[in-house]
Amino acid sequence: MALRLCPCCGFSETSTNKTIGEFNISICNSCGFLFVENPPESSIADNPVSKLRHTEVPTPKRRHYYTRNLIDRLDTGNRVIEIGSGFGALGKLLTANGYDYLGFEPDKGRADVASSGGVPVEPHVFDPSEVTGSVDVVVIDNVLEHVHDPQSILNDAAEVLSESGTLIVIVPNRYDIRRAHPGWAQRHFWIPPAHINFFRWKDLQRMCSSAGFSIRPFPVRSHVTDDLHTKDLGFIIKSLIEKTGFTPLGLYAYGSLSE
Ligand SMILES: [Zn+2]
Repeated sequence: MALRLCPCCGFSETSTNKTIGEFNISICNSCGFLFVENPPESSIADNPVSKLRHTEVPTPKRRHYYTRNLIDRLDTGNRVIEIGSGFGALGKLLTANGYDYLGFEPDKGRADVASSGGVPVEPHVFDPSEVTGSVDVVVIDNVLEHVHDPQSILNDAAEVLSESGTLIVIVPNRYDIRRAHPGWAQRHFWIPPAHINFFRWKDLQRMCSSAGFSIRPFPVRSHVTDDLHTKDLGFIIKSLIEKTGFTPLGLYAYGSLSE
């Protein structure tokens, strides 16, 4: 089987960083991106993420509220598409808040759960040619770390977004400080073949930029809600730290097409 080229810059030469089971996690010798060189051909078929953990649309997590808050405050428009909509938690929240939401989810089990819960979802891979008219917001939440070609998803987002539209993208952070805890890292981070791409902020920025987007971290105000949870306080501190250019936890980015 041919090894994967660097999904960030296309370079073919790598250095092995670590091996987990049968998977080689390597660093691109050109741009420094870290990725699994030999993932299964299908990223869905024999992939641990496809185990169904929910039989109905789960309660939204705090990060779904942060995305909703950001969309509310940016006020870019009403039409939202989510690429990789999973069990429909964000879709349920946005639909309840009056947004014209449509999710795309290639995993049939997940798409079925979302549909049965009343969340509008297309049960297949996102295809920009199916979208008529322009879209105000595209959300890509914990998707890019799983797929063979993350760049193509960002390019697809750029194709359907309006000129003033907003891209929202969330991925795990290769330099997440929680990795210092081995249990956390083994459960949530070093989990090939579920995760096959490991982003630093600069990698995400580079890929977004190739698709035409300039991005920045979620602002403090996305984490401020009427019923403030303890977790929100942590995220407020995170956003304040990110103002210094240091990203200690997950990468939460938003942006627009550059002029
Ligand atoms: Zn590279």
